Amino acid sequence: MGRVVITGGAGFLGSHMCDRLIERGDDVVCVDNLVTGRASNVAHLVDHDRFEFIQLDVSEELEVDGPVDAVMHLASPASPVDFDRIPIEILQVGSYGTHLGLELARKKQAVFHLNSTSEVYGDPHVHPQPETYWGNVNPIGPRSVYDEAKRFAEAITMAYHRTHDLDVRIVRTFNTYGPRMRPDDGRVVSNFIVQALRGEPLTMYGDGSQTRSFCYVDDQVAGQLALLDSDHVDPVNIGNENEFTVAELAEKVIAATNSSSPVEFLPLPKDDPTQRKPDLTVARSVLGWEPMVELAEGIEKTARHFAEELNI
Ligand code: UDP
Repeated sequence: MGRVVITGGAGFLGSHMCDRLIERGDDVVCVDNLVTGRASNVAHLVDHDRFEFIQLDVSEELEVDGPVDAVMHLASPASPVDFDRIPIEILQVGSYGTHLGLELARKKQAVFHLNSTSEVYGDPHVHPQPETYWGNVNPIGPRSVYDEAKRFAEAITMAYHRTHDLDVRIVRTFNTYGPRMRPDDGRVVSNFIVQALRGEPLTMYGDGSQTRSFCYVDDQVAGQLALLDSDHVDPVNIGNENEFTVAELAEKVIAATNSSSPVEFLPLPKDDPTQRKPDLTVARSVLGWEPMVELAEGIEKTARHFAEELNI
């Protein structure tokens, strides 16, 4: 058991990570500027004697007193809606924020764990995507603020590993969903579930034939912790191999929520990847991990959460 600093700890993924670490006996220092994270996500932890919350912007400063065993850098707005709304902040947390996280890990002789993304593969020409694929990213498009920030983050993480012999982990997270996503997050799972619960039209971008492979948050957290606890330095995909079209996702959401919402077709955003699915060979062989939660089950759990939060 150790002391873990989690940047973005009040976010969707970060708050679930805090829960699991506290459960297994670690001390948690949760750092968040609450731009996309929410204090309510960790409200149930604030009185715990092994949990500490620090509100600050990790793009500007990251000092933590006392010993630290791991720095998990999860902070970053991650929804395409945010790419238009706060592009500079996204570039800053991926660059300055990652640099400060690495410096903290170096000073404390801690492991540095980077939450990277399947977006480093861009609109992929190789399918499914293994970690060895270098990607197809538009460096100046609207998604580049996230994609290139994460590519930079991976590069500086490996530079610290090579230059300072820092112990590092890099996880490439594929479309993760579950309770505590913001209802107005803008991503497809939260949008469709909230729209279906409210009886509003499901906003389908394009013809819905583009694919994604959706990973339930509990599986994502388990995979990331298996990686943290391993000694594997190269990037590892963590996600779910079951691939669905966005149209199929809409059908599943309608079925799970018993909704009579129609589908409304809207223009496809620029550079929207046409397909995405992780190759999980490395995760299976190195970590002995694999995802367990089927999409229908995960949607049901997430829908129950949103119904409660929104009082629908
Ligand atoms: N999408 C959609 N309707 C929405 C939100 C998203 O059809 O209300 C589509 C989007 O164009 C993309 C897919 O769903 O093809 C996944 O989008 P999301 O924003 O969840 O994640 P990402 O594009 O980053 O994989």
